[in-house]
Amino acid sequence: MKILISGCAGFIGSHLCEYLLKASHTIVGIDNYITGKEENMSSLFVSKNFKFIQGDVADRDFSIDDKFDYVLHLAALASPVFYYKYPINSLTVGALGTQNMLEVARKSDAEFLLTSTSEVYGDPEIHPQPEKYWGNVNPIGIRSVYDESKRYSEAITMAYKRYYGLKTHIVRIFNTYGPRMRKDDGRVIPEFIMSALNDKPIPVFGDGKQTRSFCYIDDMVKGISAMMDSDAPGPINLGNPEEFTIIELAEKIKDIIESRSEIVFKPLPEDDPKRRKPIIEKAMKILNWKPRYSLEKGLKETIEWLKNH
Ligand code: UDP
Repeated sequence: MKILISGCAGFIGSHLCEYLLKASHTIVGIDNYITGKEENMSSLFVSKNFKFIQGDVADRDFSIDDKFDYVLHLAALASPVFYYKYPINSLTVGALGTQNMLEVARKSDAEFLLTSTSEVYGDPEIHPQPEKYWGNVNPIGIRSVYDESKRYSEAITMAYKRYYGLKTHIVRIFNTYGPRMRKDDGRVIPEFIMSALNDKPIPVFGDGKQTRSFCYIDDMVKGISAMMDSDAPGPINLGNPEEFTIIELAEKIKDIIESRSEIVFKPLPEDDPKRRKPIIEKAMKILNWKPRYSLEKGLKETIEWLKNH
């Protein structure tokens, strides 16, 4: 297939491009490098089946003449640190960016896949989270720029499906980690690993009893690819249902690295979700997918990579 992917220089985007090139697809990737990096694509540039466009899919006059079989919209500012820093870009990439990508799909009569997020559930009152849960999002809080942009992108994707009959798919990605996350990404795993590697204090926000469930990148890429191959519109949760407190995570990372770092407590950011864990029955049944990596194994791979880069 000829595939268009936004966010190809990002953490998940670059891994997904690699995977799809190996499966003999032709890819046109777009990224504006707001958080993505050119070096993430070094293995992609050697392929004659990969073409890169540097640009912002959220531009009002964005258009692309080429025709595609499949359009994937991954571009987003997924780290709280970056969506606090670029709140407007965060909203526009979900709003204008999603519509621009949907238009490319509509003009090509292509299939469309949106990578949404567990953040659409906000600070969930239901635990663990099934896809049918509508969420508990503060529409004006500091996280709203990400949460609402993704909720809007889901809404407009469904509108294109209903109004134009476009074949669309939505996955909701839970916390994902692995090689190619930026050192300054700010999300908990790279932040704790970098602190522990340098014997610097590990910053735990709040009392560290809040939970997250962490999925390794290789598992996530396979889940997205399985969704592409399916007829399911979704939304379908993709994530690893093994749940950890943030304190447990800090201790695990400290142990693996054998770091002398101490754990220090910092104020909890506004609206930080207290618990998060996906129900993945749908993904298991419809996509025949489930994550294989334990947290321990995935952390070791990520630590090695961060050490060497
Ligand atoms: N967190 C932390 N220290 C950090 C970064 C994050 O304790 O340096 C906590 C954060 O408050 C949240 C969890 O780790 O409860 C996961 O945060 P992250 O930014 O990775 O992503 P989120 O799941 O909140 O989108």
